[in-house]
Amino acid sequence: MENKRIYLSCPTMHEEELQYVNEAFATNWVAPLGPNVTAFENEIAEYVGGGYASALSSGTAAIHLALILAGVKRDDIVFAQSLTFSATVNPAVYLGARPVFIDSEEDTWNMDPAALKKAFEKYPECRVVIAVNLYGTPARLDEIRSICDEHGAVLIEDAAESLGAKYKGSHTGTFGDYGIFSFNGNKIITTSGGGMLYCRDEEPVKKSRFLATQAREPERHYEHKEIGYNYRMSNVVAGIGRGQLLHLDEHVSLKRDIYMMYGKAFADIEGVRMNPYLDISEPNFWLSCITLDESLKVKPIDIMLALEKENIETRPIWKPMHMQPVFKECDMITARDCCISEKVFDTGVCLPSDIKNTQEDMDKIISIIKGLF
Ligand SMILES: *Cc1c(COP(=O)(O)O)cnc(C)c1O
Repeated sequence: MENKRIYLSCPTMHEEELQYVNEAFATNWVAPLGPNVTAFENEIAEYVGGGYASALSSGTAAIHLALILAGVKRDDIVFAQSLTFSATVNPAVYLGARPVFIDSEEDTWNMDPAALKKAFEKYPECRVVIAVNLYGTPARLDEIRSICDEHGAVLIEDAAESLGAKYKGSHTGTFGDYGIFSFNGNKIITTSGGGMLYCRDEEPVKKSRFLATQAREPERHYEHKEIGYNYRMSNVVAGIGRGQLLHLDEHVSLKRDIYMMYGKAFADIEGVRMNPYLDISEPNFWLSCITLDESLKVKPIDIMLALEKENIETRPIWKPMHMQPVFKECDMITARDCCISEKVFDTGVCLPSDIKNTQEDMDKIISIIKGLF
């Protein structure tokens, strides 16, 4: 018999999602607005500790609108973490801005404050920074925040992967001037596709809802003074989100168990390390990753191939943006002797982190990996 597929991370649905969706159908709120949308916005804002949120069609749309709210214009410089998914930075290019990439540091794999400082020395005119909490691990958010404040720059916190994670007791997504979340299919909670823009203040969030509904002025006829977008989340999709949110803490706890299980299993293999995090932070452990010391004979590709043979899904670390052909003209700032984001990409691999994987699945994955050493 064919081995059953063991997944990296895929949707986990419960009962309530369908109840909210059924409610949307029963009341004919099958539209890009409605009670589920408003309730989901309020519930997310409440979950992260207050403030306001607008429900959008994707995390990418949320980043796009955050950049518009931050005032990004053609030819502006935007600093962005290099080690990330391309959606972090693509919207800056939609606006004609020029990304400058910032290297990572070893303790979180996220934006290196020393490299960010160096970037401001080279480009003092930069007014917008996009930091990421990669794989659900909070960045050095205090340091990044204070460097941005020193330079009068707006901080956009790409928390697409880190909903539910905390830094010094507060939720990620709330440290930037704007925070963004994603509910894409493989994130810690999903709506099949969707995103959220978060802000402590109400005005920018109201403005984002206006821009997301074609920038239609409050007139009887269709009046437009600005270019708008069709970026609102549908009321059906928001119903899935409301049901998922009820189970977010449970998902985080199961993801933590997976991370700890891998950590314990690999603790005795020299040169193998889990994706690191700071003591002052509580990641949501969205994906468990390992890095293999360059001196080891076993390489990430060996792990990927060995697991693939058993129908077990893995994924390389995000390929840094400064290494991508499409961004080859962009500058890259590193503050270390070696480029940390390249090193993590070269030596790391994402392991199956789906919360539906059983103890048996975990034992199988671990024994295949251990067997390579
Ligand atoms: C998923 C993701 C996004 C984009 O979110 P979508 O909802 O897929 O548009 C942005 N940044 C990071 C780091 C992500 O992982």
